[in-house]
Amino acid sequence: KIRVRYAPSPTGLLHIGNARTALFNYLFARHYNGTFVIRIEDTDRERHVEDGERSQLENLRWLGMDWDESPETHENYRQSERLPLYQKYIDQLLAEKKAYYSYKTPEELEADHVKQEAAGIAPHYINEYQGMTESEIEAYVNARKAAGITPVVRIKVSETSTYSWQDIVKGEISFEGSKIGGDYVIQKRDGYPTYNFAVVVDDHDMQISHVIRGDDHIANTPKQLVVYEALGWKAPQFGHMTLIINSQTGKKLSKRDTNTLQFIEDYRKKGYLPEAVFNFIAFLGWNPGGNEEIFSREELIQLFDENRLSKAPAAFDQKKMDWMDNEYIKHSSLDKIVEMSTPFLKAAGRLDARATKFVEMYQPQMKSAESIVELTDLYFNEVPEWDAAEREMMSLESSPVVVAAFKSKLEALDVADFTAENIFPLFKATQKETGIKGKNLWMPIRIASTGSMHGPELHNAMALLGKTKVLAHMSAALE
Ligand code: GLU
Repeated sequence: KIRVRYAPSPTGLLHIGNARTALFNYLFARHYNGTFVIRIEDTDRERHVEDGERSQLENLRWLGMDWDESPETHENYRQSERLPLYQKYIDQLLAEKKAYYSYKTPEELEADHVKQEAAGIAPHYINEYQGMTESEIEAYVNARKAAGITPVVRIKVSETSTYSWQDIVKGEISFEGSKIGGDYVIQKRDGYPTYNFAVVVDDHDMQISHVIRGDDHIANTPKQLVVYEALGWKAPQFGHMTLIINSQTGKKLSKRDTNTLQFIEDYRKKGYLPEAVFNFIAFLGWNPGGNEEIFSREELIQLFDENRLSKAPAAFDQKKMDWMDNEYIKHSSLDKIVEMSTPFLKAAGRLDARATKFVEMYQPQMKSAESIVELTDLYFNEVPEWDAAEREMMSLESSPVVVAAFKSKLEALDVADFTAENIFPLFKATQKETGIKGKNLWMPIRIASTGSMHGPELHNAMALLGKTKVLAHMSAALE
């Protein structure tokens, strides 16, 4: 029976990397008719943020995911509510002498690390009881207790063991026990378990069959195997998904990278379609083969295959995200895109009688609902400055001729008749009158009336701009 989990630490908003972890666990569960569990890992009290949990769940839901077990429906699905369970196993390990109290202070540990680094060895913990007799141990512990030092609990790590697993994504992985860094802390001074301990107790207790997570956790896995071994439990299968790199820099995607939207909240706020974001994330380190890239959630569930999780880093390309959202917008109903665009037009003070027309005209170019604002700049701002290509076009001898001829035909239209249908035939008429056709005909007219070589159907744009503005732009262009 497949049981997978997404286990966020509520330390901030839902980031694209975590959303990807959630999404692949979701696809895995749904593909195999398994169970998708959400567990909140809130034992790091220093990094805890208010509202972190709500924002995680809300954004996952926005992306279109659902789950079978979570703190919303199940008791004790937050680690902070599971302390007695961790304590039970810590007591067991202490009784079996597989774990022990450690009284070294942070200052002493730090001093050890400094010495080790100076000697060119990786910082690690050295068992503080090493070489002590029973009575020396007793004296040491008593002195520490008397000094008011609270101990941590450390688990014993065998330096001579090798910890290996068959990784679903990366294949066989092996870690030498000697590289783990010594007996490590499983219970902190504040009584909370550490992540590497709690995660094992929980994954075992919740009967998790597969752990799919980011490869930033790969060095934690041997530490977790130590706990599985000490408690005599069978470990789940692990899969560590490849790093996400920024396609612009070629480096690991960093929250400081500008020109990228990395929080799911950002996509929501800018009016991206959740289906598009879901589709985009599903291709971060996975693909179903072939060239097709647009797939619905249901199709992705069908197609999911854990053997196709990529070993190579996943490239995060903001342009591709925008391309994909545009694909989804183009294939959505006009009503839906109008509804999504309305708050953005309103906030920009652009919600007038033309709103539906604007969206209809620019829907093929929109890359988010918010982008309607930039696309409608022409109707509310000055015409943009011409760039080099536009200046070159306008410097042709024929350009002022066609613009002037077209302009005089527009002037002859009453304001009430200034419609797309009435404007359209004027191109043919201008061609007849001037003998100029094709690009040399319509491009100067486009540039003169809209300030740009690019845009939607010109007669539609002109009708929306209105007679006064179009004529003013053309007069200015002819000066
Ligand atoms: N709470 C951990 C994190 O947010 C989960 C790691 C895991 O999946 O084991 O990274």
